[in-house]
Amino acid sequence: MEPDELARSMLGWYDRHRRVLPWRAPAGRTADPYHVWLSEIMLQQTTVVTVGPYFQELLRRWPTVADLAAADLDAVLHAWAGLGYYARARNLHKCARVVADGHGGRFPDNEQELRQLPGIGAYTAAAVAAIAFDRRATVLDGNVERVMARLFAVEEPLPASKEKLRALADTITPDRRPGDYAQAVMDLGATVCTPRKPKCPRCPWHDGCAARAAGIAESLPRKTPKAEKPTRRGTAFWLLNPEGAVLLRRRPESGLLGGMIEVPSGDWLERPAQSLAAASVQAPFAASWRLLPGLVRHTFTHFHLELQVAAARLGAGDGDGWMRADGIWVPVDRLSEHAVPTVMRKVVRHALGSIGVPE
Ligand code: SF4
Repeated sequence: MEPDELARSMLGWYDRHRRVLPWRAPAGRTADPYHVWLSEIMLQQTTVVTVGPYFQELLRRWPTVADLAAADLDAVLHAWAGLGYYARARNLHKCARVVADGHGGRFPDNEQELRQLPGIGAYTAAAVAAIAFDRRATVLDGNVERVMARLFAVEEPLPASKEKLRALADTITPDRRPGDYAQAVMDLGATVCTPRKPKCPRCPWHDGCAARAAGIAESLPRKTPKAEKPTRRGTAFWLLNPEGAVLLRRRPESGLLGGMIEVPSGDWLERPAQSLAAASVQAPFAASWRLLPGLVRHTFTHFHLELQVAAARLGAGDGDGWMRADGIWVPVDRLSEHAVPTVMRKVVRHALGSIGVPE
């Protein structure tokens, strides 16, 4: 099949089978750039199903990019909590400010300028330019990579083959309806050309697909095996004051979970679990710490984390030095008012499950 025939058949398929998504404009209309940008940032590393309610909630609270720019960063991080990858939420807020202050509240309409904005890389710039402004742009996400690897039977593994797949995708991207075309290929990858058991008989590219013809579709794209993720270990400190409030603190601005609220924890390092005596050197306050049974496990992009949880409750006999502890004291029933990342929510659940809600 020739490139224009491939594009035509894909657009025809899209007109019949397009997915209805909360951020997508009705057929024949161009989507709001703010909605497209918001959804694309939220969808990085997260599924459509997970993102749906978060997207609706963010839009309800901040209906325009100017509203988001004016929002308090903590409120944005709070609304984001659960989606992970908090650097994206911080960049989201930063980007909204740049668009509101530097671009009069309007997103630039081309890839080059979009790429200058915080948190917008090659993929997002292409997606926003194509979907929101109907600009010809080659949008290459995981779905598109898979479809291209199969259509052209590219057996060279990812990530080395990425640029080749981009160049191949570019040969088909049409000048007419490039926004719909970009969404069409993404939809095809999500619903028909799926990682396992692709539904080739339902595919508009069935006749032109080299991997299908060779019987190797399901084995593509090949991937260079990833290095095993290391496991880091650390200790979280669950400290209750005499009033039953728990000590939380803000993590440093830079680094993992930058600026997020945490149950104070020591370093996370690739080493065996520390004894309580060794770990308590990093405790936020001198107290009679005891280790709770079990571990909190969480997986980040580049490593697994295992946290042991040390707990202590201060009493009247401990004086009032705790009032000067570095952090904030939060009543347990008001923890949900803070932007606590998922790993720290697990620590909260673990502590409450082990010693119960304080009186
Ligand atoms: Fe994917 Fe099958 Fe379509 Fe080829 S024919 S693009 S393998 S769904």
